[in-house]
Amino acid sequence: MKLYVVPTPLGNLEDITYRAINILKSIKFIACEDTRRAQILLQHYDIKDKTFLSYYHPKEAIQIKKIISLIRKDEDVALITDAGTPSISDPGFKLINACIKEDIPVEVLPGPCALITALVGSGLPTDSFAFYGFAPRKSQASFYEDMFSCDVGSWVLYESPQRIVETLEAISSIEPDITVVIARELTKIHEEYIRGSIKEVLELLKAKNQIKGEIVLILSKHNTLKRED
Ligand code: SAM
Repeated sequence: MKLYVVPTPLGNLEDITYRAINILKSIKFIACEDTRRAQILLQHYDIKDKTFLSYYHPKEAIQIKKIISLIRKDEDVALITDAGTPSISDPGFKLINACIKEDIPVEVLPGPCALITALVGSGLPTDSFAFYGFAPRKSQASFYEDMFSCDVGSWVLYESPQRIVETLEAISSIEPDITVVIARELTKIHEEYIRGSIKEVLELLKAKNQIKGEIVLILSKHNTLKRED
């Protein structure tokens, strides 16, 4: 049978497709990062009586074998993640890759993804962009030098609120005039976009006592946010 890749909401529980709900209702086996979180999510849609297969980093290898053997025994498996689209900066990639190599059909549903939502809402160029996953903790200078040598309209990164100031400081020493958008708590009550030059955004963040929630960082050398007078 098949592996279904099913995106789930980033925060707002209304952000799920009819097709995602129907597939989750019809499939018995759900592979997920956190089984308790998945259970709470599915309860919200009145989806019951599922068998959860925990699939998380760094235990992917053993679980991939189990999931593949289930699919070979004529079962469908749905892969979900804690939030958003499986395989984007989470362990989903390895399972999808293993299924493809084993000639197991993989069906991917479209749905919420933080990087796309943030990029579109940023107002920075969307015609060409590069996603670099989580901002690095080490060798920042060489990472950002390589990243900015890639000729695209915007760069997108995931970052934690605890590290965002440090990351922006590392970037500003390489690109002091770059335009920055912080997309925070997307689709949630405290959703916020902070836009400006890297200097302005750093000043604003430092003035705040604490930055909370989940963050996507979008950067561009084109200041498309400047008003024409
Ligand atoms: N698979 C997910 C997706 O489709 O976007 C991403 C998973 S990754 C483990 C988690 C990171 O995504 C967070 O640290 C944050 O950078 C970003 N993220 C997830 N939800 C978000 C939200 N509601 N608002 C802003 N960023 C979010």
